[in-house]
Amino acid sequence: MTNKAVLFGKTLDELRVVVKELGLPGFTATQIADWLYKKKAGSIEEMTNLSKKARGLLSDQYDMGLTMPSKEQASVDGTKKYLFPAHRNLFLEAAYIPETDRKTLCVSSQVGCKMGCLFCMTGKQGFQGQLTAGEIINQIRSIPETDELTNVVYMGMGEPMDNIEEVLKSIEILTSDWGFAWSPRRINVSTIGVIPAMRRFIEESEAHLAVSMHSPFDEERKKLMPIQQVYTIENVIELLREYDFGRQRRISFEYIMFDGINDTAAHVKGITKLLNGLRCRLNLIKFHPIPDSPLRGTPHDKMVWFSEQLNKKGLTTTIRRSRGEDIYAACGLLSTKQLLKKEE
Ligand code: SF4
Repeated sequence: MTNKAVLFGKTLDELRVVVKELGLPGFTATQIADWLYKKKAGSIEEMTNLSKKARGLLSDQYDMGLTMPSKEQASVDGTKKYLFPAHRNLFLEAAYIPETDRKTLCVSSQVGCKMGCLFCMTGKQGFQGQLTAGEIINQIRSIPETDELTNVVYMGMGEPMDNIEEVLKSIEILTSDWGFAWSPRRINVSTIGVIPAMRRFIEESEAHLAVSMHSPFDEERKKLMPIQQVYTIENVIELLREYDFGRQRRISFEYIMFDGINDTAAHVKGITKLLNGLRCRLNLIKFHPIPDSPLRGTPHDKMVWFSEQLNKKGLTTTIRRSRGEDIYAACGLLSTKQLLKKEE
């Protein structure tokens, strides 16, 4: 590892500044973007339509900034979890989830997280640092399945809205013609509801949005998710009602089901009232138990009942299949294990 600046993760505008500072022709910026994001060059030397001099000047001051995963775990169901080294000897995780009709990568946006949700292993790690746009996209670029990916979800470690600048930049690189040129409809970003950053996300990107609800009730949600003390789920939904998302852009709510806690008829009523008239879908998610937590997942039969009750009220509800349980697919588990190993 050198102390040079890195190219991967720079937008076209930022690359224009780089080439200007090096005294290279303006069009070199587009050529570099092409090598970084389309041709997937592994080194500056591979950028063969740049002059030898240009490559030399670039190499003197810049590294590519690509990092391969340091560890991989495969589940019996095909899910794979990749561990990437991050700054200060820390680790971040990405989970590859293959299904018949899509291949999704779940990426991290931070190392650790400061939001302290009761059910989350990443939250237990505490906040360790922000990821750059380059570190976010590197997860997509550096796994063996990179060319198979159809979708990316920002649902790994961290709260994406707490790193909104770099998250928006990573989406710009993924969706621009000079970048990966993906449709924004292939990208879904989750949030627990950090309202000011959500507003920026809604206005400055076209990607889908997934809001973690987990309870429609104030006191209960406060216990599960301390963010409720600052930004309530009611306020989050009020914000969403301000916008017309059109037919193409999807708003969904995530609802992890905890046995005997948020899976009653009263919750069905509460959710229905909250989401009344909002065009959205609700994903019911099986809880993966985490160490040292009394929380248990709602049994499948009860999840089906809950889903049916909501469907009867007119809500589009799906039960998410549980994937990769045998490799600790819940975010934060693998990196926490690695962290503990380092500390031993
Ligand atoms: Fe952070 Fe998300 Fe975990 Fe909450 S659920 S602590 S926001 S990573």
